[in-house]
Amino acid sequence: MISVPEYVIKAIEILEASGFEAYCVGGCVRDSLLGKEPDDWDICTSATPDEMKEVFADHRTVETGIKHGTLTVIVDRNPLEITTYRTEGEYSAHRRPLNVSFIRDLDGDLSRRDLTINAMCCDKNGAVTDMFGGTEDISHKIIRCVGDPFKRFDEDALRIMRALRFASVLGFSIDEQTSQAIFEKRYLLEYVSGERIFSELKKLLCGRNAVSVLIEYKDVFAAIMPEITPCFGLEQHNKHHCYDVWTHIAHSVGNVRQDERLRLTMLFHDIGKPQMARFDENGNGHFKGHPIRSAELLTEILDRFRSDNATIKYVRDLVIEHDNRIPVARKNVKRFMSKHDFDFFMDYLEVRRADTMAQSDYMREQKLQELEQLALIAVEINNENCCLKLTDLAVDGKDMISLGISGRQIGAMLQRLLDLVVDDKLENDRRKLLDYAKERIR
Ligand code: ATP
Ligand code: MG
Repeated sequence: MISVPEYVIKAIEILEASGFEAYCVGGCVRDSLLGKEPDDWDICTSATPDEMKEVFADHRTVETGIKHGTLTVIVDRNPLEITTYRTEGEYSAHRRPLNVSFIRDLDGDLSRRDLTINAMCCDKNGAVTDMFGGTEDISHKIIRCVGDPFKRFDEDALRIMRALRFASVLGFSIDEQTSQAIFEKRYLLEYVSGERIFSELKKLLCGRNAVSVLIEYKDVFAAIMPEITPCFGLEQHNKHHCYDVWTHIAHSVGNVRQDERLRLTMLFHDIGKPQMARFDENGNGHFKGHPIRSAELLTEILDRFRSDNATIKYVRDLVIEHDNRIPVARKNVKRFMSKHDFDFFMDYLEVRRADTMAQSDYMREQKLQELEQLALIAVEINNENCCLKLTDLAVDGKDMISLGISGRQIGAMLQRLLDLVVDDKLENDRRKLLDYAKERIR
C-alpha cells in the first residue's frame, strides 16, 4: 500500500466528487514501491481538460501542456500535474506522436506508457493497479517495455535511452527481448532531438550502474555519438593502463562523484585518444595532444545535444586540463587557481583521481598522494585570500589610463602585474604596482 500525500488525495476527491476517475500514476508509484520518496506526484484522470478547468475553477491553475491534456493545479500551495487519459495517435518518424486523443478508460492510458515499472497507478488509498507486471519487475529488478519492445521503440526511439537510464539509475538489468530490441532499433535514435537524448543521457551517467550500462550497451552510445567508436577495444600498450580506451572511460565515469558535469567530463576525457595514438619502437602507446582533441570532439557532440554553453565550457576546460600533471608546488597551484578558480581546481583533482583509479595500479599510491598534497595546498591558498584575479589587484584599468597606457596595453599590463603577484615576485601593493608599471612604459 502506498501512502499518498494529503494534497494529492484532496485533488483526487475533488475530481471524484464530480463523477470522474483519478489516480496517481507513473514515477511516483514506481518510486513509492521502491521505498523512495517521489519527486512529484502526477495524476491521471478521465476528465477532459475543459472538464478539469471547470472542476478546479476555484483553484489556481496553469495551462502547462493543455494541448496534451495536462493542467497544473495548485492545491494547498503544491503544484500538481493532472493529465487526461490519452492514447497516442500516429507517431511521426520514430519520435513524439503527431496527435494525442483523450479517452475515458484507464487501461488505454496505462498501455501507452514506456516501461512496466512506469505503467502502474494507485488510487487515493494507495491501492495499486498493475496491468503489466510492474510490481514483479521491480522485485526482480527488471526493465521491460510495455507490450512489444520492437514496436514501442519504433514509435518513439527515446524509450531506448529511457530504458538504459532506468537500468543505470535503479541498478536493474534489462529483459532479454527488450535488450535485443534496444540493439536492433538503436539507429532510430537519429530521429530523436538532441535535447531529449541529452536529458536522458545526463541522468543515465549519474546512475549507480552507469559503468556496466556504458560497457554493455556501448553500441547504443555509438549510435548517438559516432565519435566514440574508435575507442572501443583500442588497447593502450602502456604500463599506466590496464583497459582499452572505452573500458577505461566507463570505469572513470563510475569513479567520479554523481554530478552531471564531472560525469560528462569523464565520459569525454579520452575520446580524442584514438586519433592521437602513436606507438614507439618498443610498442608503447603515447597519446600526446589528446586532451585538446577530446575537447574538440566533445564540443561537437554537446552542440548537437543543444547543451547550454556554460556546461560545454566547464566540461571543455576540465577535459583540457585533465592530463596536466602539475608538479606539487605552491607556485603551480596558485597559477592554476589564478587561471581558473578554487572550485574548478578541486573538480580538476576529482577528475584526476577518477582517472587514476581507472588505470593500472602502477604507481597508483604515489599518484593519489600527489593529488592529496595538491588539495592541501589549494585549501591553504584559498584560506589566505591571496590575490588571484584581476579584480583582486590593488590597481585597475583607470590607474593604467592615468599612467598614460591605452587600448589593449591596459589589459596586458594588468595581466602582467597579476602574474608577478601570483608568482610572489611583486607585492600586491598599490604604490609598488604603479611604480613597476610606470617603469615599463617609459
Ligand atoms: P522522473 O520524473 O523521476 O525522471 P518519471 O517516470 O516521472 O521519472 P517522466 O519523464 O516525468 O518520468 O514521465 C512520466 C511518466 O510518463 C513515466 O513514468 C511514463 O509512464 C510516461 N512516459 C514518459 N516518457 C515516455 C515515453 N517517451 N514513452 C512512453 N511513456 C512515457
Ligand atoms: Mg516525473
